[in-house]
Amino acid sequence: MRYFPLFHDLRNASCLVVGGTAAAARKVRLLQRTEARIHVVAPELGEELAEMAGTGNVQWHARRFRAKDLDGVSLVIAASGDDRVDGRVSRLARARRLPVNLVDRPAQSSFIVPGMVDRDPVTIAIASGGSAPVLVRQLRERIETLLPARLGDLARFADRFRPAVKAMIPGEDGRRRFWTRFFRGSVAEAVLQGNDRSAAEGMLTLVNSAPESWGNPQGSVALVGSGPGDPDLLTFRAMRLMQEADVVIHDRLVSDGILDCVRRDAERIPVGKAKGAHSMSQEEINRLLVQQARAGKQVVRLKGGDPFIFGRGGEEQAYLQAHGIMVQVVPGITAATGCAAAAGIPLTHRDIASAVTFATGYSADGLPDLDWQALAAARQTLVIYMGLSNGEEIARRLMDKGLSAKTPIAVVEKGSLPDQRVLGSHLADLGDLLQRESVQGPAVLMIGSVTASARKLAPAEATLALAV
Ligand code: SAH
Repeated sequence: MRYFPLFHDLRNASCLVVGGTAAAARKVRLLQRTEARIHVVAPELGEELAEMAGTGNVQWHARRFRAKDLDGVSLVIAASGDDRVDGRVSRLARARRLPVNLVDRPAQSSFIVPGMVDRDPVTIAIASGGSAPVLVRQLRERIETLLPARLGDLARFADRFRPAVKAMIPGEDGRRRFWTRFFRGSVAEAVLQGNDRSAAEGMLTLVNSAPESWGNPQGSVALVGSGPGDPDLLTFRAMRLMQEADVVIHDRLVSDGILDCVRRDAERIPVGKAKGAHSMSQEEINRLLVQQARAGKQVVRLKGGDPFIFGRGGEEQAYLQAHGIMVQVVPGITAATGCAAAAGIPLTHRDIASAVTFATGYSADGLPDLDWQALAAARQTLVIYMGLSNGEEIARRLMDKGLSAKTPIAVVEKGSLPDQRVLGSHLADLGDLLQRESVQGPAVLMIGSVTASARKLAPAEATLALAV
């Protein structure tokens, strides 16, 4: 990170804005939301600033900038429209270690002004380090539409009751759980609807009933699918549970990008497959889940893809239920659909594939016991998980049962991740392809005509190996 986001307390501070341009006016308008005293230094003012000067906390000094203007100031913005003037402001301010911003000149600025979503006291700042201002604006618009208008009221309301909650509910964990439920409950909803009276009454009831309701928290487990790796492919529910978890017990397949979305002070316990390292047995994982839930923790069991597709979610669910632990399952985008989308391969297609099968290519004692005859049938798509070590054998079985050696195939490695690879060929070449390209995995093998139609859509048709 080159830019570290901070929130600057500007109560009673003096801010200097050099210039009378429209750009300066935009910055003044932002600063006007604070309680800062805003000094505008400019020989002349544009139309917009002229309207603001002298109103509220904006004061105009009708002259050129001079070094003394920096005295006693805690923030400087230069937007005079004259590079020489702005450059001089920047040099002088930086010599005094004053935070300075030149509009659209990050190289000469010591801070940048982010895109803002303002639900004071809740404020959201968005920046791209100057790399994609339009993207920042779009993000801001999206967040604006997501957040209720009275979100700030809700934050103030909660703040008002903070002492009461602290007095009534012992322990930080209990209070966090209380607030977690509060912000999604009917009292919060009443605040957001502007119904302050009934909200305040509801809050009193809630706080007073708190010791019984929150004193003895019951732990639970959520089996959460995290998708193929791109954090953008998480579900809202997965995201929310990851934010509320006390403990996250995750497979090693779960990407760093996704782990970054976990609440920062949640405990993280990696379990499961890791090459060369000790991995916990399924029985040990089951026991760990029960033990954590019994300790009153909100446990998220985070898995790659979907928990119920080659993820042993069924076993964990049964074990937890047998031990009387509350368990919920949150679906995730499984590797087959995630990789298909990332590679532009439609798994079914009106003309060429009317069925799709997900199969595992691995079992502890070699090739799994599958109905190869059925898998070799025409007009369907086959997606094989965990098939790297048996790729060649799988192709041979299918060809033995009559599937054409020329059937198009694709191998998608690290689907949806930045280093994703899509490799295309035909069935007889599958084993060789995996060798030749030293595919490391995780990867899925896709077999069927649809994989070819996808490659035709791809721009780099000439190279069958597409780095996406
Ligand atoms: N529950 C998971 C599958 C776990 S089994 C799911 O629904 O996706 C592990 C196998 O999933 C890997 O061997 C690989 O075949 C596949 N896989 C998982 N993530 C993948 C990814 N990002 N790209 C390609 N294959 C992936």
